[in-house]
Amino acid sequence: MSALDIRIPLNNGTSIPAVGMGTVCPEDKKGPFKKAIVTAIVDAGYRHLDTAWFYGVEEDLGDILQELFQEGKIKREELFITTKCWPSLWNNPEKSLNDSLKSLKLDYVDLFLQHWPLTFKSDANGQPPVPRDDNGKVIFDDGDFLDTYKKMIDIYKNTDKVKAIGVSNYSIGNLERLLKETDVVPAVNQFELHPQLPLQDLVDFCQDHKIVVEAYSAFGSGGAPVTKLPLVNELAKKYNVTPADILINYHTVSGRVVLPRSQNPERIKKGYPKVPLTKEDLENLAEIGELKPTRYIKEDWGKDIGMPYW
Ligand code: NDP
Repeated sequence: MSALDIRIPLNNGTSIPAVGMGTVCPEDKKGPFKKAIVTAIVDAGYRHLDTAWFYGVEEDLGDILQELFQEGKIKREELFITTKCWPSLWNNPEKSLNDSLKSLKLDYVDLFLQHWPLTFKSDANGQPPVPRDDNGKVIFDDGDFLDTYKKMIDIYKNTDKVKAIGVSNYSIGNLERLLKETDVVPAVNQFELHPQLPLQDLVDFCQDHKIVVEAYSAFGSGGAPVTKLPLVNELAKKYNVTPADILINYHTVSGRVVLPRSQNPERIKKGYPKVPLTKEDLENLAEIGELKPTRYIKEDWGKDIGMPYW
């Protein structure tokens, strides 16, 4: 049984595949990108792609998807596709979405996220994506980050362009404000999560409010440092699977979505088997980060958003 077959219900009545392919693509991996996506969908059976306006891959992704649709390899409605509104377009999520749909060559996405609870001072086209002053400091706009989500609610209620909306990198404090001031509970909150960063309070808060947790950087991002932890390797031996399989199941067994990224066709093709991790295994894994929390994605623009251990 494959973890790729698990689906998790969303609070809008639809469901989401628990394992989604991450589409961040380092410059030197742009060549293998097409092969990675085709292998994921056609050979491994991925049905969920996580992308974003900011990643600069949506044009390529759109071309790849068109080819797969035309060859009859997959149908649009069999895929779950997420895109995100970047803070440089915080004031105009509709433009962000329209840009993404045009690049992706799609009529709708299954999920549209606010990428960060932040506002950047950029031009009307969202350029530069990360504005900085002469000292390299990010230039923030003086708007309210929640306005982005409020405008996303209008898109959700009044168009067919998004099936669900949600947020990313939201702390408990930010979610409390959102729940008080708006009338659409986000379908998901996407943030960094793995045994070195278990963030149990935030996970519990989301699950108590029917907000599905999506784990990003589940391997610790480039170089996959979390796969090297001794306990992860011990468990891999115990269950006769790979360390990456343990890290994927750490989330799926707990009812969370996880978004692994790989540009290695052999790894992608293998997929991720279900592993029957016990409550004790999960607690032991989380204890690593409870004792010594480690965050791998530490963008300087994220310092003030209220997330623990930034
Ligand atoms: P991951 O934590 O998924 O790690 C990717 C790294 O792990 C790559 O170096 C990859 O190398 C390696 N890897 C993949 N599979 C294995 C394996 N089986 N064994 C050992 N190493 C492996 O990276 P990301 O930080 O990119 O996170 C994943 C996705 O999450 C992103 O692509 C994006 O979609 C999302 N994300 C969202 C953010 C947000 O702000 N909302 C922020 C960051 C990420 P190789 O390619 O050689 O396999």
